[in-house]
Amino acid sequence: MFRSIFQPIKIGNLEIKNRLVNTGVATSYCNPDGIATNRLIEYYEARAKGGWGLIITDNYGIDELCKDSPFVPGVWNDEQIESHSKLTERVHNYGGRIVAQIGHPGREVKNYLSLPKAVVAPSPIKDPNTFYPLDVPHELNVEEIKEIVENFSDAALRVKKAGYDGVELKGGYGYLINQFLSPFSNKRTDEYGGTILNRCRFLLEIIESVREKVGEDYLISVRISADEFVDGGLTIEDSKVIARLLEKAGIDLLNVAFGVYKSMYYMAPPSAVPHGFFVDLASEIKKIVSIPVIAVGRINTPLIAETVLLSEKADLVAMSRAGLADPELPNKAKEGRLEDIIHCIGCLQGCVGAYFKGQPVHCLVNPESGKEKELSIKPALNKKKVFIVGGGIAGMEAAIVAAKRGHEVHLYEKEDKLGGQWLLAAVPPHKEELNTLTVWQKTQLGKLGVNIFLKTELTEEIVDKENPDAVIIATGANPIVPGIPGVDSGNVIIAQDILAGRKNTGNNVVVIGGGQVGAETAAHLANHGSRVTIVEMQDAIAKLGIPLVNHFLMKDLKENNVNIMLNTAVKEIFEDSVLVERNNEEIKLDNIDTVVMAIGSRSENKLADILKNKVKEVITIGDAVKVRDGINALEEGYKAGLQI
Ligand code: SF4
Repeated sequence: MFRSIFQPIKIGNLEIKNRLVNTGVATSYCNPDGIATNRLIEYYEARAKGGWGLIITDNYGIDELCKDSPFVPGVWNDEQIESHSKLTERVHNYGGRIVAQIGHPGREVKNYLSLPKAVVAPSPIKDPNTFYPLDVPHELNVEEIKEIVENFSDAALRVKKAGYDGVELKGGYGYLINQFLSPFSNKRTDEYGGTILNRCRFLLEIIESVREKVGEDYLISVRISADEFVDGGLTIEDSKVIARLLEKAGIDLLNVAFGVYKSMYYMAPPSAVPHGFFVDLASEIKKIVSIPVIAVGRINTPLIAETVLLSEKADLVAMSRAGLADPELPNKAKEGRLEDIIHCIGCLQGCVGAYFKGQPVHCLVNPESGKEKELSIKPALNKKKVFIVGGGIAGMEAAIVAAKRGHEVHLYEKEDKLGGQWLLAAVPPHKEELNTLTVWQKTQLGKLGVNIFLKTELTEEIVDKENPDAVIIATGANPIVPGIPGVDSGNVIIAQDILAGRKNTGNNVVVIGGGQVGAETAAHLANHGSRVTIVEMQDAIAKLGIPLVNHFLMKDLKENNVNIMLNTAVKEIFEDSVLVERNNEEIKLDNIDTVVMAIGSRSENKLADILKNKVKEVITIGDAVKVRDGINALEEGYKAGLQI
């Protein structure tokens, strides 16, 4: 099936066994001392074992006082080299190749993390990202610039001493090198600004200094943001000039990314961004240089990676989150086990979402990722008969892990299909990819021989007869119907009934509740031709969602002319109208065909009480404990499977 992705390639003097590159996600697995921790080592070891031709790490700090998070791995002093040597040795043991990315955040130091040093930049302009507050940076003078150039090359030498197969300079994503390259952030008129040649000078000086220290044979890569997607920022035409200058300066590899923090919704694209959306940027660069070029961006299956290479748009394909979701993607693809690949679904809950909270990254679809040792699946010492109630993502995950450990697993689902609320979450626009998880889980249940009982509620009678050793309750939650006058009218429908296709709506719809379910149901209805009004009591909709994902949700709502009424309470529902109150003023919404309730859900866990005196082990997980995000529900399912 694959003609291209498993072809070896030589980059500089380095032989790479295939074209699949696992580029870094900001792991945040280290302590402020920057020493490579066991967690970081195990993370990269798992990717080497999984068959990636090349691993390019997450950003390593070059200066203790200028890093974008307290938890970045560091190569700013010689004491850190030993821990990194262990990391590279473990990767090399599996035949993997690993390049360390080094970078300086410049003005992107997030002051909410209370980092110690004032932020620096080519010009004193604060980054306009909308996700967290930043300080106005100190404008670097020439002496300070030269010092940073030295810091880069000293760090590169440590990278080489630690056994990495090459070094990559982080020249994109709005970090310091990018800030110098871009007219958006560089307003200098000295030798480091004003013209494109001058704006490149900082990076070219770094390359010259790095080359001098690491020698001619050592791989140097540069990652750039070929289009910043901001007004006045770098475009592909600017980046083509930069690419040629970099090639002339003697780099071996160009990693073509996109976006800066202001256009973050592209930099870490959620599922609303089409697959391979940015590949043409790499393609444009590839046309004008002769060194290998890497393409990146929402490439989450080997099938897309293959077509990118077949169409000669790049020489290698980077898959960051795809490798977080499934470290074994290359091996599975090579063995023809495509159905076993766990796909990144572009949810951003565990990777970018965690990073911005200052937490270690993890992954919704693969709880083991980043906790390779802590959550590894080992055979159970006592094989048990395990019943799982509820075939949503938490219940299915518990069943998969329990079955992998050798337990006899029975899964009971009252509906006629598996997936639970997750199936409904996949219905609104841009959420279709959630179904890849359901398909993967169903496939694994089948392969593992789990006994599945659809349209079956687990009753006391079944428990008495079958006598299980353990029951895991994953019964989820039921929608709340508030006591609003008129709520019993025939025109009132629960959002979940619409998403499940059980109920129809008229053309004029009011959605009561602007949480994630309400906003997404509104987008779904508006996308299919209804005129929709959202009535929300709070001052914003979808408040708890991931901002980068919500960027596209809001765009959908706007493009479909959804009317959003904030700080508004519903007073009464009538057959063809809804009475609401905003700022002490009553407003009647007329000619309404359907009222959709999306107020929230309440845990359903009655069975736990009933069974606790009958079964030795009863564990309740997921929404059945408390309504929560998919990432927490799935991890609880996984851990329950490990626990029994
Ligand atoms: Fe992909 Fe979501 Fe996992 Fe991030 S958390 S890697 S977006 S599946």
